[in-house]
Amino acid sequence: MPPAAVFKAEQRRDEHRPMISRRSFFAAALALPVAAQEPRPFRWPAGKRAAISLTFDDARVSQIDTGIPLLARCGVKATFYLSPSNMTKRAEGWKQVAEAGVHEIGSHSYSHPCTANYRFARSNALEDFTLARMEADVERGNEEIRRLVGVKPVSFAYPCGQKFVGRGEKTQSYVPLIARRFLTGRGFLDESANDPQVCDLAALMGIACDDMDYQQMDKIVQAAAQEGRWLIFAGHEIGKPGRQTTRADALEQLCRYAADPDNGLWIDTVERIARYVQAQQSIK
Ligand SMILES: [Zn+2]
Repeated sequence: MPPAAVFKAEQRRDEHRPMISRRSFFAAALALPVAAQEPRPFRWPAGKRAAISLTFDDARVSQIDTGIPLLARCGVKATFYLSPSNMTKRAEGWKQVAEAGVHEIGSHSYSHPCTANYRFARSNALEDFTLARMEADVERGNEEIRRLVGVKPVSFAYPCGQKFVGRGEKTQSYVPLIARRFLTGRGFLDESANDPQVCDLAALMGIACDDMDYQQMDKIVQAAAQEGRWLIFAGHEIGKPGRQTTRADALEQLCRYAADPDNGLWIDTVERIARYVQAQQSIK
C-alpha cells in the first residue's frame, strides 16, 4: 500500500478521534507502513485456532491407572509433572510411559516446597528456602526422574504454582533458576490462558481443571479459542468426582472435542507447543 493510502486508511480508522494521531502522521511522513510497526500477528500451525496442553501434577496413581488409558482411547498427548516420592507407587507404570515416548515427563521438584500457609508444607516451606536450596531441590528432582525413568525433563511445574523463596524484603523469585534449566515453567490457579505472542515460557499460566464438569471446561476452551491462546489445564487425580480430581467423563469429552480436526484446536504436550511458540517469538 502506498504511504498515502496507508495514511488515508489510518485516517478512516481514526475517524472517531478529534485529530489524526501523531503516530499515523509521522508514519506517513516517513513513508513507513504503519503495519510494520505493529507486532506480527501470531499464527498457530495448519490454521489452528488455538492450542491446548493437558497437564497433571504429583505423579498421582490415578494418572497411571485411569488417565493414561483414557488418553490412549482418545489419541491425546499430555504432560505429567512428576514428584519422585510419588512415582515409586507406580514405578513400572511411569517407566512404561517414559519408554513409550507419547506423553511428556516433566519435573515438579524433588520435595514439593510450598508456602507455610499450607499445613502440609510447613516443615518444607518456601518462606524458609534460599535460592541455593531451591536449586539443589530442583537438581535432585531431575536426577531422580532420570534415575527412575531415564528422562531429562525440559518442562517444570512450580509446586502449588508458587515462584518465590524467602519472606518479606528477602523474598526472591526462583523463575530465573527455572528459566536457566528448563524450556518452560508452569504456574497453577492462574485465571487466563497464555497469549502466545508475549507469554514468558518460564512463567506460563496454568488453569485448574479439577472438580469441573465438561461445560465448565468448554467455557474456558472457547474463550481461549476465540483469542487464539494457548490454554494449559492443570489437574491432579483423574477419576470419579472428588477432591483435587479431574473428572474422567469430562476429560474424555474434552479430549474427543480437542482431537477432532473440525474444531481447529492443537492439543499437544507443553514441550511441543512451547518449541513452536519459542520459534515464533524469536522471529522479529
Ligand atoms: Zn503439586
